[in-house]
Amino acid sequence: MTDTLVQKSQVLKGGEFLVKSSRPEDTYVPEEINEDQRMIYNMVRDFLNQEILPNYNRIEKQEPGFTPSLLQKMGELGLLSAHMPEAYGGMGLDTNTNTFISDALGPAGSFTVSFAAHIGIGMLPIFYFGTEDQKQKYLPRLGSGELKAAYCLTEPGSGSDALAAKTRADLSPDGAHYVLNGQKMWISNAGFADIFIVFAQVDGDKFTGFIVERDTPGLTLGAEEDKLGIKGSSTRQVFFENANVPAENVLGEIGKGHLIAFNALNIGRFKLCALSLGGAKMCNTRSIQYAKERIQFKQPIANFGAIQFKLAEQAIKTFASESALYRVSDLLEDMKNHFLSEGDDYAQAQLKAAEEYALECAILKVIGSETLDYVVDENVQIHGGMGYSEEGTAARAFRDARINRIYEGTNEINRLLMVDMLFRRALKGAIDIVTPAWEVQKELASMPSMEKAEGAYGEEERALRDFKKIVLMTAGAAAKMQMDGKLNLKEEQEIVMNVADMIIETFVAESLLLRVQKLAGMSSKPESQEVYDAILRTVFHDATGRISKYATDALSSFAEGDLLRTFLMGLKRFTKYPPVNVRDTRRLVAARLIEAGEYCL
Ligand SMILES: Cc1cc2nc3c(=O)[nH]c(=O)nc-3n(C[C@H](O)[C@H](O)[C@H](O)COP(=O)(O)OP(=O)(O)OC[C@H]3O[C@@H](n4cnc5c(N)ncnc54)[C@H](O)[C@@H]3O)c2cc1C
Repeated sequence: MTDTLVQKSQVLKGGEFLVKSSRPEDTYVPEEINEDQRMIYNMVRDFLNQEILPNYNRIEKQEPGFTPSLLQKMGELGLLSAHMPEAYGGMGLDTNTNTFISDALGPAGSFTVSFAAHIGIGMLPIFYFGTEDQKQKYLPRLGSGELKAAYCLTEPGSGSDALAAKTRADLSPDGAHYVLNGQKMWISNAGFADIFIVFAQVDGDKFTGFIVERDTPGLTLGAEEDKLGIKGSSTRQVFFENANVPAENVLGEIGKGHLIAFNALNIGRFKLCALSLGGAKMCNTRSIQYAKERIQFKQPIANFGAIQFKLAEQAIKTFASESALYRVSDLLEDMKNHFLSEGDDYAQAQLKAAEEYALECAILKVIGSETLDYVVDENVQIHGGMGYSEEGTAARAFRDARINRIYEGTNEINRLLMVDMLFRRALKGAIDIVTPAWEVQKELASMPSMEKAEGAYGEEERALRDFKKIVLMTAGAAAKMQMDGKLNLKEEQEIVMNVADMIIETFVAESLLLRVQKLAGMSSKPESQEVYDAILRTVFHDATGRISKYATDALSSFAEGDLLRTFLMGLKRFTKYPPVNVRDTRRLVAARLIEAGEYCL
């Protein structure tokens, strides 16, 4: 298999990680946080601890004006416009700093939804697709927190199938305005938003974006939804009844609303991961603290192996996912700079970078939300009965986390998208997966290599190459069946889900390996490296088993007889990562967490 090494000067393209390898020294890790970034991170943490967490009940009860006042305060600190260029009143900070901001705000529960809807899907459509006049008119006031934004895509009849929206927009006879009629559903921030980004069908069939101001006659709101969690976040229906929207408020081109809707979601997914992992770290800390305090059978429950497993696993999943998050964060930054150097303006460069890594953003959305779900679930379990009580924070965190697998594209839709995007990019020639897939096929027909793994991380490097071979073998075989007319992947979502899960496992494993290798080269303490190595080996041990199962499930669904036997032999050859004593590796991680009394990785 060709495993070309990517030079930092040629930034890895979207999806290319499957066929190229990266170097630790070119991979960004959060431990590289610089002084300015640390200052901003601490500023957000102070805001969280002083303004948000002590007032959490006021947020949770949706006390009128309270969440908007918090957004305004964040705006005054520059935290709502950190991602905007100075020309629009922003701080123009790099992607990694913005990732640290979201990460730090992660424990803010419902408030993270208000924040993300405002700065992401609320502001970005104007920044990416607005005219200069629209940008000047709205962005500085949105960035300062004076105005709040909401994003109206979903309707009662169109959720995942967003382009099936029925809300209409018809140009008035004098051409001065569009008349909007229809209904939007599940709109975050609707209760206090001043600006609504609305998608409607011009003439009933041209999906188009609009900027709609709150005081537009004909715009009305439904009651607050009674939700499972994130109760502090305003979620309402928005109705349009002959609502006249000035023609100059069309966003982007008529009929090109899908570009706005989907591009805003790429960064939304990325930010969702950062916020989720920030929340996961806080929850892990709460689990550790409770496990140290709670005495049963005359000792802290943290002494029990079953509890240590949970504490360690919460931290391991979070650390591994975080490696992928910051890796993509830096890729986005590099790609943005690449487009800037080619003459694109800031908005275009940022938009194109997010589009390039749409596949990686979908991976992050899934791992961020699923890691958080694991962590909050085990947090409840570690708290026992107290975890089930509304007196503590565990029950609320458990309910709040659940939304993340549903919005910004459900996790099923994101998994489907990942595989679809990979095949599309391959078909367009943006990445070459055919040659490496063919080389894997040739390797299957040859004698297994007896080459020994070399170096401190030789086993993991080899396992990673093998993970990629398994993905290429399985996806390549399915694609070939499809070309031969023996399989229609559109009708075989179970197989697509298997392939998506292997892609996710591979990307996380690689990101973690690169981070741990880089940390080994930095001047970290040997006792910390011992923990990083334990995390790495645990993840590779588990990933090997899971990838083997996903591949077996997929291959057995479409191959049989000799062909299936050949694939399964290949699979056996590619899953030779030596078994790890995961009891000991997890105990080591748990011991470090318990000693520190918090998530300390
Ligand atoms: C609290 C909350 C806040 C929200 N905020 C906003 C907001 O600010 N703005 C906005 O526009 N929207 C918002 N949404 C809407 C959200 O994005 C949608 O709920 C989500 O996209 C799913 O759509 P749906 O609810 O119609 O579910 P459906 O699309 O009906 O999906 C139901 C199930 O079917 C699955 N499914 C659907 N299609 C397929 C398929 N092709 N293949 C396989 N499985 C499929 C889904 O994965 C899901 O499991 C919010 C939702 C909630 C609950």
